[in-house]
Amino acid sequence: MEIKVPHPLLQALKKQRYHLVGNHSAVKRCKWLHDSLVHGRSCYKAKFYGIKSHQCIQMSPAIFYCTQQCLFCWRAQNSDLQIKWSETGTQIWDEPESIVCGSLYAQERILSGYKGNQQADLRKLREALMPRHVAISLAGEPTLYEPLGDLIREFHRKRFTTFLVTNGTNPERLEELKEEPTQLYVSVCAPNQDVFKKACRPQIKNAWTKLNHTLGLLPSFRCPTVIRMTLVRDMNMENVEEYAKLIKKADPTYIETKAYMHVGFSNLRLTFERMPSHRQIREFASDLSDKTGYKILDESVDSRVVLLSKREKTKRLDMN
Ligand code: SF4
Ligand code: SF4
Repeated sequence: MEIKVPHPLLQALKKQRYHLVGNHSAVKRCKWLHDSLVHGRSCYKAKFYGIKSHQCIQMSPAIFYCTQQCLFCWRAQNSDLQIKWSETGTQIWDEPESIVCGSLYAQERILSGYKGNQQADLRKLREALMPRHVAISLAGEPTLYEPLGDLIREFHRKRFTTFLVTNGTNPERLEELKEEPTQLYVSVCAPNQDVFKKACRPQIKNAWTKLNHTLGLLPSFRCPTVIRMTLVRDMNMENVEEYAKLIKKADPTYIETKAYMHVGFSNLRLTFERMPSHRQIREFASDLSDKTGYKILDESVDSRVVLLSKREKTKRLDMN
């Protein structure tokens, strides 16, 4: 089947070492998979929730499409490459089974590069060849993939745990999801519609209303839910009161407040100075904690992220 995606977008993704899977999915090596194998350092989600970075697959079933063009996004966006959003669409979806098989194969190819690497931890490399967790979050908006619930079920059937990250602009897909992920993330990167339009640059109508609809759905999920905020200096770090109202509506299990990182394609859109310090993220989190009653539970200084929770401790994932 021919991939109906503009050539420059495909080229940009391949240059960024995305391993394309089928017609619209991809796997990419996460920096933390490398750091875990070579330097013994894991991502903050390992610290907060117990995932193992070296056994994690970072993938997306909708690599070419997103309903937003967030200024802080590190991925290649269609406008960075002067491609119209309408040019990136397709309605032909690959089967969940083939995406899972293709993702496993892509991860194996990524790991094969470490077999001759003297610095790689051999025990971890053996474990890495049996991945146990999937972060469905790499790029694009995963809820645009219609059989998303079946994809999650297929990963669970193979005994994977799953994190699903959505920007919340497709509540219908979440409403009809046949299988919940192990943990559901919704990005909330603006306290109100004005900031949302500037920071997240939605490409669909009523995106703010749809995000609010999604927030209203979160209490109906049985799995732990997370509101993730990517914070950019002088852009979306004010109006904590309004953020608190959104949190009240969503009643998430956790909140992650995280600094924008000046990496990837975001360099074309934002300057280095827009990256908040960890101290600023802590101050924001403390203010949010006061206004929501959520407790500050943990933090990662390296990743400039603070975890807030309504529980005394997080639910750890069993990856054995
Ligand atoms: S959970 Fe995310 S950051 Fe951590 S290893 Fe997986 S993809 Fe990387
Ligand atoms: S919603 Fe996520 S993938 Fe889409 S533009 Fe924003 S940061 Fe990038």
